[in-house]
Amino acid sequence: MKVHFPVTSGALVARQAGVVRAVDGLNFTIRAGETLGLVGESGSGKSTTGRAIARLLEPTGGTVEFAGRDITHLSARAMRPLRRDIQMIFQDPYTSLNPRHTVGAIVSAPLKLAGNLSRGEVRNRVGDLLEMVGLSPEHLNRYPHEFSGGQRQRIGIARALATHPQLVIADEPVSALDVSVRAQVVNLLGDLQSTLGLTYLFIAHDLSVVRHISDRVAVMYLGTIVEMADRTGMYEHPLHPYTHALLSAVPVPDPAKQHRRERILLRGDPPTPLNPPRACRFHPRCWKAQDICRTEEPRLLEIQPGHQVACHFPEERELV
Ligand code: SF4
Ligand code: MG
Repeated sequence: MKVHFPVTSGALVARQAGVVRAVDGLNFTIRAGETLGLVGESGSGKSTTGRAIARLLEPTGGTVEFAGRDITHLSARAMRPLRRDIQMIFQDPYTSLNPRHTVGAIVSAPLKLAGNLSRGEVRNRVGDLLEMVGLSPEHLNRYPHEFSGGQRQRIGIARALATHPQLVIADEPVSALDVSVRAQVVNLLGDLQSTLGLTYLFIAHDLSVVRHISDRVAVMYLGTIVEMADRTGMYEHPLHPYTHALLSAVPVPDPAKQHRRERILLRGDPPTPLNPPRACRFHPRCWKAQDICRTEEPRLLEIQPGHQVACHFPEERELV
């Protein structure tokens, strides 16, 4: 899948001519019932990937398939029935909920779009959804500003679940929340997944956030996937230097060992997806870079069962 955006005026990099390669040649599958964690710094193309899968934007190349069906170029009308099956939870519960709408109106909006329930049925369903996310049916007539950040995100989750989706794309659902409530929201998502048999694409910029909820994890860098593995492979046997750097920033569960962890500080500027470096896109910041890294793009190869890495010199590194 490729998603390239023509640069328009007002965009971050508008003065440079070119195309922002937000996502460039991704190839992965999300398996039914799993959580795939998608991790990378801002600008790596994670949100764009999520939006392309939900067909909130149309990829410029490649295909997006859902349940065996090519949905890459479906019209808005043809996508409508599928909107029930693929839902999104957004990063910022402060801006993703219309402040002038009641909780009832917000949560019922996808149901009304789907349009096959009576008013009474919608009301009951919304009450059930609010209970499911740890709120109360009495909250129906209240407005978003009356709720805390964590509660607002619960409202966003209730809205996403209204139509019994199969796939939920959660785009940094806890990044804007207080650290103290993040675990609660992640746990809620985990519980809902088991109860409802959901499939998640869970986007985060931090490997620690997706650790407990993910079955598999993909690490993105400048629009490409550099490493993909199951949870154990990613956290215990990471192979890509960029993954090593990300993991070195994650606090060690056992603080007594913290002093043993060597923090890898990435050199160079944060990446911009405009005209990314040639060959290995990570090479300007990689301490292991050799000549071949500047001339030949490493392909994402499976080098252990279920463990793929795009690096000419993949290597395990002891991370405590
Ligand atoms: Fe570093 Fe080379 Fe591997 Fe890229 S291919 S991550 S530059 S060692
Ligand atoms: Mg984002």
